[in-house]
Amino acid sequence: MTLQLPKGDKKNAIGIMGGTFDPIHLGHLVTAEEVRIQFNLDKVIFVPTGRPPHKEEEKVTDPEHRYLMTVLATINNPSFAVSRVEIDREEGKSYTIDTIRFFSNYFGSKTKLYFITGADAIMEIITWKDYKELLSICHFIAATRPGYSLHKLKETIGESCPEIMQNISIVQIPGMQISSTMIRQRVSAGKPIKYLTTDAVTQYIYKNKLYHNLSG
Ligand code: ATP
Ligand code: MG
Repeated sequence: MTLQLPKGDKKNAIGIMGGTFDPIHLGHLVTAEEVRIQFNLDKVIFVPTGRPPHKEEEKVTDPEHRYLMTVLATINNPSFAVSRVEIDREEGKSYTIDTIRFFSNYFGSKTKLYFITGADAIMEIITWKDYKELLSICHFIAATRPGYSLHKLKETIGESCPEIMQNISIVQIPGMQISSTMIRQRVSAGKPIKYLTTDAVTQYIYKNKLYHNLSG
């Protein structure tokens, strides 16, 4: 069992937010909370990647660190949960389709699944494995993200696969120009990261000396 939800919790609509979360930051949290409210979701489940297929070239922090930071950041929101499903998957590479299939089986057909992505991630959707099946079993939320345009979504995805657009909703998020890359670089350069992520995550980063020597 990779996810423990309290018994009796409603599970009509569940949001799934995948990410590297290296580290998780306020942009992720604001996005998840805004989508939860707008779509009346019962829960948002954060799913840290095991070894992301699109980032395999880059050095990604140990999944256990990323998982624990995600738990710390979400601990005070009863509607947020964290799943180890991708981290515990043994095959190495993890694909979103496998994760959505997992949750689809886990919750059953009565639960509607929403996959939450930022504007940059949604534009990659047509490069993902089995993206058509993905869109048939869950609804996609494309969250606005400063620095990335959703202008081309209709042209890029709509033209090659117009039916896909019906399964995508665009959601306006209060702008947060924060990225994990920015946080890693700031820590590495000795700059403060206060107010970019939660205090607990900040303390976890310093305690475990994460991102201190990026080039190493
Ligand atoms: P990195 O800089 O390492 O790529 P990131 O900040 O983009 O990190 P990810 O873990 O890659 O974070 O992103 C997980 C998901 O959260 C993606 O769908 C991404 O688009 C979305 N996301 C990340 N930051 C924001 C933000 N500031 N506003 C809205 N969505 C965001
Ligand atoms: Mg990213």
